[in-house]
Amino acid sequence: MKRLVILGGGESGVGTALLGKEKGFDVFVSDKGKIKKKYKDVLIHNEIEWEEQQHSEDKILSADVVMKSPGIPDKVPLVKQLVEKGIPVISEIEFASKYTDAILIGITGSNGKTTTATLTHHALKNGLDVGLAGNIGDSFAKQILEEDYENYVLEISSFQLDGIENFKPHIAVITNITPDHLDRYDYKFENYINSKFRIVMNQTKEDYFIYDADDEVILKWLKEYSIQSTLLPFSLTKIIENGAYYKDNNIYITVNNNQIIMPTANLALQGNHNIKNAMAASTIASLLGIRKSTIRECMENFQGVEHRLEHVLKINKVQYINDSKATNVNATYFALESMDAPTVWIVGGEDKGNDYTELFPFVNEKVKAIICLGVNNHKLMDTFGNMVDVIIETQFMSEAIKIAYKVAEAGDNVLLSPACASFDLFENYEDRGRQFKEAVRKL
Ligand code: ADP
Repeated sequence: MKRLVILGGGESGVGTALLGKEKGFDVFVSDKGKIKKKYKDVLIHNEIEWEEQQHSEDKILSADVVMKSPGIPDKVPLVKQLVEKGIPVISEIEFASKYTDAILIGITGSNGKTTTATLTHHALKNGLDVGLAGNIGDSFAKQILEEDYENYVLEISSFQLDGIENFKPHIAVITNITPDHLDRYDYKFENYINSKFRIVMNQTKEDYFIYDADDEVILKWLKEYSIQSTLLPFSLTKIIENGAYYKDNNIYITVNNNQIIMPTANLALQGNHNIKNAMAASTIASLLGIRKSTIRECMENFQGVEHRLEHVLKINKVQYINDSKATNVNATYFALESMDAPTVWIVGGEDKGNDYTELFPFVNEKVKAIICLGVNNHKLMDTFGNMVDVIIETQFMSEAIKIAYKVAEAGDNVLLSPACASFDLFENYEDRGRQFKEAVRKL
């Protein structure tokens, strides 16, 4: 019996444990922190051995294969030891994909993964048997065990890609690449870029690679390295023969000589970044044979994803928008870019060494007031102090919303798009977004 050791008892860890057990492995789950009760219950119920708040080396170094959760860095001593011993350390998508013949669609990128994956799934559901997994919802491994869909849309982080060997999506997407998570990549952007491109490394010319052809980082990499995949780029600025492009308020998607034209005004998700997400999702849907009219409808009736430019409420003709998931400057760039009215902007949190320069034109043009919401607001006050008439700081969401309510006038937007992590004042970005929505609803 082969021994499968799983490091990390979260969604992907426990899902992998279940699949591993079913496939005849001797399974052991080890978590350095506490395992949530709901996951412990599953492990106990399925008679899978586990431990928490420790890693027992004797039980781990005897593994034939190790599935490491994406949150655990490669540089922790235990992982190094495993690698030195020649024990394969892989990710959930690598382990699980061996046990399905489904068509796999892998979506990665620095921003837009969840939106693009959810939008793609929304379109594919109309005609295909399809699951949504990866960094989203129920674990991929568990879905293979319990649902066994014919197709999967997988949202994939670079950490998951670091742990693949044979994983081969039939359709791969890179939405964009901007510096993120560099602490896990020896502070070398190049390493992070290479990690993202692992998504195409096992593809052949029968497989497709969809990418943002306006993204200089992606273009440069493609110039330097050759890949097998059939390329289907998308662009807002250039005409694309095979792939998708934007011209005169329409998007054109051409796949296998089949063309779909869609007015951007009808798209459910507005903003240039969402036009790109819609182009990627429509290209995938078209490749997999979804009808043109269905693709169009799906791009028009998509409800959006919570905490991503989510329209919460309109009060006294002021639109309140929750973009709590904007935890870096690039995401906030697209949020501000998409604002079509004077905006009261709530920003701040745990700064990751942010450079705000690229936001200046939007702030000058669209932002009438700034509310800084973080433990330490100095940098924001210094950076934007001279740019707007009103700049106020607070440490409370409820207060931020009260100030916004006072400052905003009919026709304005109030936008929470922090450009920072949430951990100084909130549990996570979901908590921050929920508190925003609650405070707005209480107005
Ligand atoms: P991810 O899953 O990659 O973190 P999300 O879809 O959750 O991406 O979006 C994260 C943030 O980035 C949100 O604030 C969203 O508005 C913004 N965003 C969405 N799509 C894009 C894109 N294509 N380019 C840049 N920013 C985007």
